[in-house]
Amino acid sequence: MKAVVVHGAKDLRVDEVPAAVPEPDGVLVRVVYGGICGSDLHYAADGRNGAYPVEEPLTLGHEVVGVVADVGQSASGAPPIGTRVAIHPAVPCAPAGAAEPTGLHLTPGGTYLGSASTRPHTQGGFAELLPVGVGQLRVLPDNLPLRRAVLAEPLAVALHGLARLGDRVRGARVLVSGAGPIGSLAVTGLNHLGARTVVAADLQEYPLQVAKSVGATEIVRLSDGETCEPGSFDVVVEAAGAAASLASALAAVRPGGAVLQLGMLPGGGVPVPMASLIAKEIALFGSQRFDTELDAAIALLAAEPALDAVVSHEFDLGSTAEAFACAADSSRSAKTILRLSADPDS
Ligand SMILES: [Zn+2]
Repeated sequence: MKAVVVHGAKDLRVDEVPAAVPEPDGVLVRVVYGGICGSDLHYAADGRNGAYPVEEPLTLGHEVVGVVADVGQSASGAPPIGTRVAIHPAVPCAPAGAAEPTGLHLTPGGTYLGSASTRPHTQGGFAELLPVGVGQLRVLPDNLPLRRAVLAEPLAVALHGLARLGDRVRGARVLVSGAGPIGSLAVTGLNHLGARTVVAADLQEYPLQVAKSVGATEIVRLSDGETCEPGSFDVVVEAAGAAASLASALAAVRPGGAVLQLGMLPGGGVPVPMASLIAKEIALFGSQRFDTELDAAIALLAAEPALDAVVSHEFDLGSTAEAFACAADSSRSAKTILRLSADPDS
């Protein structure tokens, strides 16, 4: 079978690898779509993602949907062959004696599809066939096309971050700083949670148009270093993962407001003026991946056909290099997806 494999910095290949088979207690998924994420771009360009260098060939991809293709002999509770599914990329490792069923995304250990955080690396889903555990499958509602369902993972990331804000969202005036795929998905999540106003700000016009089509009340194109209406927002969602965007988030939030850090900040020191954290008593929330929010994300995707607009480009495996170049250019793309096999919906 074919798989998209990173061998090092600027060394991304479509390799022929041995066809995957299911574990005896697992299933085999024929992958239909895979969304290209910022972490995939980092692995491909730099041969590492933050703290995690690629030390052996790594199949990328953790935003994947497909169809059940085979079921292991001893698998119980698996949906029948042909069922359309999204895949939870995490297999958490519960600490000994843990009673708490949620919050496992914060426990050390466990695996995440397409990640060099473990040794051996956890191979990902940009492959024609992917073996996963039964517990990782989420059966898709009939009215949710696979091409929209591929947004389930990044939407779950956004919903988990918004859940960190608790009851601060309902009725709030919110700024989303950075209107890339995660920012645009956060716009929809904020509307769903009852925000009063959702303003999306970005340096580029293209992502702002996407944010508008998925429900932003207002869009603002900023120039470098500019802050959107300083001191006026109850909540600011930083979704660009850039120091300058965090600095302007801290400036844009009102006294007593909250900032959610949803974008992945660069490793190491980040130059951000932090004094306003004290002067304005800002609550600053971090957010790591997600836990159970994948189910809420799938339900929201089924209810919101407008989210189709977040999937801006689709490439087949033969055009993987073009797909990665497209995904890396936020001035002309939102979520770029790979089509790994035929879509049964079309
Ligand atoms: Zn992702």
